[in-house]
Amino acid sequence: MQAVKAEPVKIRCCGPHPDKAYSAGCGRVMSIFYAYKCLYCGFYFCARCAEKHFGKTRAEHNEEMKAAGKYLGNF
Ligand SMILES: [Zn+2]
Ligand SMILES: [Zn+2]
Repeated sequence: MQAVKAEPVKIRCCGPHPDKAYSAGCGRVMSIFYAYKCLYCGFYFCARCAEKHFGKTRAEHNEEMKAAGKYLGNF
């Protein structure tokens, strides 16, 4: 048995629109625990780019959930 140093997996943000030619990746590197993966394109984003990629901020999403009576709290 060999001791393996646990390195958290690092993800580099692809930028808000990695599927578009005009997008420049923001290049932020973060632990996989803070990265957001798009269900559709499979790219990883930081929180700010994820909001842009998905087209709304979490605050806006929360307001929509509140209006619909489905707000479960900030997460
Ligand atoms: Zn996507
Ligand atoms: Zn980013």
